[in-house]
Amino acid sequence: MGQKIQAVKGMNDLLPVEQKDFKLTAAFWQAFEDTVTRWARSYGYNQIRTPIVEQTGLFVRSIGEETDVVGKEMYTFADSNDSLSLSLRPEGTASCLRAVVEHNLLYNGPQKLWYMGPMFRRERPQKGRYRQFHQVGAEALGFEGPDIDAEIVAMSADLWNELGIRDHLVLEINSLGNREERAAHRAALVAYLGSHQDKLDEDSKRRLHTNPLRVLDSKNPDLQEICNKAPHLTEYLGEASRTHYAGFKAMLDGLGIAYVENPRLVRGLDYYNQTVFEWTTDKLGAQATVCGGGRYDGLIEELGGKPAPSIGFAMGVERLLLLVRDYGSLAYQAAPDVYAMHQGEGAALQAMKHAQTLRAAGFDVLQHAGSQSLKAQMKKADASGARFALIVAQNELSDGTVTLKDLQGTHGQTTLDAALLTSTLQQWKNA
Ligand code: ATP
Ligand code: MG
Repeated sequence: MGQKIQAVKGMNDLLPVEQKDFKLTAAFWQAFEDTVTRWARSYGYNQIRTPIVEQTGLFVRSIGEETDVVGKEMYTFADSNDSLSLSLRPEGTASCLRAVVEHNLLYNGPQKLWYMGPMFRRERPQKGRYRQFHQVGAEALGFEGPDIDAEIVAMSADLWNELGIRDHLVLEINSLGNREERAAHRAALVAYLGSHQDKLDEDSKRRLHTNPLRVLDSKNPDLQEICNKAPHLTEYLGEASRTHYAGFKAMLDGLGIAYVENPRLVRGLDYYNQTVFEWTTDKLGAQATVCGGGRYDGLIEELGGKPAPSIGFAMGVERLLLLVRDYGSLAYQAAPDVYAMHQGEGAALQAMKHAQTLRAAGFDVLQHAGSQSLKAQMKKADASGARFALIVAQNELSDGTVTLKDLQGTHGQTTLDAALLTSTLQQWKNA
């Protein structure tokens, strides 16, 4: 026997059944994808699907070399034919904008797009943090806001409502201002943190010179006081940025969407400006952020497109679904409607024909394979979770009937003319 080969650490299989340390099933996931697809449509967003592999330079240029995502967590390799450096995408926005610029999608005006799919970051795997994880994201390209900023947030809030987890999520917002305002704040921040060098941890000392804003994001309890007293970006916002932020908040107020202003909310990627937001929960331990987003007005131009102010968000599907599984609601049917059983010469073929008739009428039918006693087949029918069993044995074959059994309800068992099969089951199902 050959040695077993295991999945790559931090990368999960989605199975029909729950695993000990990964409770999400493929059927549950599929139900979520259906819900998300309908939800995005209901807002007029169009789906975009991009490759999982991109040129490394795309992420370096958009997300930023000094970020953890690009600096430490990317899966990067050289294409064997040439010296091109490629990377598995660590997030969706960069690829989405690369495609928009490449195909000139903004030529016909602004675009509202959404995507879903796997992302890759080499992080320390734990509950809610994986090396292959999935995001659903939305991007509104070519809109100045702040109305669209509010729409983007309202859209996410709507999904939480639909998934029954709205009560477990808190909206945090902040404004990062524009480039000049951030530069002024950065100078003040570096001076302030520099004067407290001795109290910083190693990570923060490094970030002080590379990405000082990220120091404020530190989860180290010893740094909280220093961070709380640090100069806030909000104090450096000019007139236009303040007006934008106020307009955004007024729309949220008008929509009845509660929020907490968090002046330390900076987000992990370099490209954000003005409005940023995160949805967090206290139900997932350290992996608290379920969805994050914000404005990235300069990014499209940075990637070679015509300037187009834009905003987007991305949610972590695993985190979201762990929350929905334990606290929310997502209706889906994993079991078939009907289990088709058969016994004796020619019965399998007849059962298969009946099953096809039923499928054409919209039933999900699981056909028994192989020959076993009807008793053993009935056990399998029960185990499958099917609501009804269809039975074809010698009697049914010889007189053109079929036997139906209600496995979960009150209709009992009956043998009827095969012509009545579909209508009878439809009655049973809707009763
Ligand atoms: P965190 O602070 O938790 O590392 P992040 O700021 O790196 O999150 P983003 O880049 O904003 O995350 O990605 C958006 C969302 O994608 C996150 O809010 C989270 O729900 C999810 N996410 C990010 N990294 C992972 C991961 N390694 N495993 C699972 N989900 C993730
Ligand atoms: Mg991260």
